[in-house]
Amino acid sequence: MKTLPSVDAVIVGGGWSGLLMAKELGSRTTLSVVVLERGGPRTPDEYADGMDELDYSIRLRMMQDLSQETVTLRHSLSDQALPVRQHGSFIYGAGVGGSGEHWNGITPRFLPDCFELLSRTVEKYGHKRLPEDHAIQDWGITYDELEPYYTRAEQMMGISGKAGNIRGRPVEGGNAFEGWRSADYPLPPTKIPYFCALFRDAAKALGYHPYPAPAATISQAYTNPDGVARAGCVYCGYCERFGCMIGAKAQPTNTLLPIIRERKNVSVRTRAWVRRIIHDSGQNGKKVRGVTYVDEKGAEVFQPAELVFLASWTLNNTRLLLLSGIGETYNPLSAKGTLGRNLTHQVYLPAATAFFEKPLNRFMGSGAAGICIGDLDGDSFDHSDLPFLRGGTLLSMSLGYRPIANFGIVPQSARTTWGSEWKKAALHFYDRTGSILFWGEHLAYRGNYMDLDPTYKDHLGDPLLRLTLDWRDNERRMAEFAIPKAAEIARTMGAKEVTLFPGLRRYDATRNQSTHIQGGCIMGASPDRTVVNPYMQHWQISNLFVLGASSFPQNASANPTPTILALTYRTADAIVNRYLKNPGPLA
Ligand SMILES: Cc1cc2nc3c(=O)[nH]c(=O)nc-3n(C[C@H](O)[C@H](O)[C@H](O)COP(=O)(O)OP(=O)(O)OC[C@H]3O[C@@H](n4cnc5c(N)ncnc54)[C@H](O)[C@@H]3O)c2cc1C
Repeated sequence: MKTLPSVDAVIVGGGWSGLLMAKELGSRTTLSVVVLERGGPRTPDEYADGMDELDYSIRLRMMQDLSQETVTLRHSLSDQALPVRQHGSFIYGAGVGGSGEHWNGITPRFLPDCFELLSRTVEKYGHKRLPEDHAIQDWGITYDELEPYYTRAEQMMGISGKAGNIRGRPVEGGNAFEGWRSADYPLPPTKIPYFCALFRDAAKALGYHPYPAPAATISQAYTNPDGVARAGCVYCGYCERFGCMIGAKAQPTNTLLPIIRERKNVSVRTRAWVRRIIHDSGQNGKKVRGVTYVDEKGAEVFQPAELVFLASWTLNNTRLLLLSGIGETYNPLSAKGTLGRNLTHQVYLPAATAFFEKPLNRFMGSGAAGICIGDLDGDSFDHSDLPFLRGGTLLSMSLGYRPIANFGIVPQSARTTWGSEWKKAALHFYDRTGSILFWGEHLAYRGNYMDLDPTYKDHLGDPLLRLTLDWRDNERRMAEFAIPKAAEIARTMGAKEVTLFPGLRRYDATRNQSTHIQGGCIMGASPDRTVVNPYMQHWQISNLFVLGASSFPQNASANPTPTILALTYRTADAIVNRYLKNPGPLA
């Protein structure tokens, strides 16, 4: 194996969290920083040639190659896990920028009580209301502590939106249920497409509090505090699964890479597939010494480093720690061990699909142009007499209704037809259809976790990550609660016909339900049940940091990236201001 000269910091993964850490360390210190990214290089200008729906959206050009590495999945301990051979329920990226290149850019913050979920729920409803088998935990950090870092993340991306609560003062038109924020969003909301405007008006008429979705697809030209300028969105609708042609959608390559490129102390090494974190026990306790990776020629390389950051996304972070034998693997039977526990996804469903008489112009839109209501989120409504805890957001989006993915959705009444009659119905309804989505909280359970698969291996011969994951009654009942509410809004919007989502049964690996997966290396105030402290620092190895949603003890209904970025900023501050002066545990 070839050994390279040592660097100060190595970062595994070149997505949102990895490149943000590289930018912060690279521009605020003189540390030598190397980012190792297993996919290829990318620059924002390569999207300018135009978009091909088949190539990007259907054949998934930007996603991880599952023939090299995938996960295995089973619903319970007694099932045999099988490899997921096609992208389905989540579509994670590879290459510089990670999933942040082809994401949507809907950027809500988490509700304040999400960070203290266990204490707040017990305080209000008592232990008895917690689901059997739950593994809910507090995060070891409060919303108030994270608030300034949320603001920095929003300013870096140039989020467009409308505040609902500035320092405790309610603001009309924003999210009436959000936590306080120190400042309004950097930019005004995006345009509201027609379908979403119908949703807004119907929701208002029914007594809800609609607000524009916070969007990283920016409403107008913007220069962020780092001096990076981007153009405003033109609503072409090629966002989700695509890189943005004009750079209006915040992506790691158009917000962070321009700064990183100017720093001589930071380099991004692509096609570097990290396999192990090298660690040993010295006089001052355990230390990581660097990482090994396979380069593009297939050679094994050792990159020594003083600091190691895992930023390879939820599942890969957990797998790398498991493969490297760092920490105690979680055992679901005894509930002992910390690594791999609290696997959560997002409860994500097209609650009601509405069919209209009039055209909706749904070809226009952006990955984050839409309207949400927070009335049914978190604990914004009383659960005393309800058969579930927590809730979620109902929303209507106009993402750009691209023909290959969306043609052929017809109402129930047209499903009996075929041939030319069906074609007529499919053409008629192509621009007359829209779904009201629900995204809800997924609580953590003892039985949902990750470990290494005993049978299946990746292209390098390393065990795949095994997911043991299924819904529980709390999620099923939450969905049953949300679906009729979505249907009521759809009918108030004037829908001619409404099709309802059939409900959550088993966890389905084939239905796309967001790439918002959490857990495995969760954070908390004490090492008893968690892997990292509230600075994302490994409890047992102080020169190892694990960034990203792998640290979330449970899903918080909203999309994860602003929280990932806020936590990364906070960690970077702690390293620059404290760790480098006095290396060791930060908490
Ligand atoms: C289609 C889609 C839509 C989304 N929409 C939203 C949204 O609207 N709002 C929101 O908040 N979030 C959204 N997300 C989620 C968002 O993209 C992620 O939360 C975010 O990208 C996570 O950042 P990360 O740095 O943790 O991981 P990533 O961005 O996934 O980056 C991880 C990087 O690590 C690399 N890597 C992995 N393993 C290795 C290894 N062994 N060696 C070297 N490199 C490795 C990967 O190739 C990848 O580039 C969306 C995701 C997808 C896929």
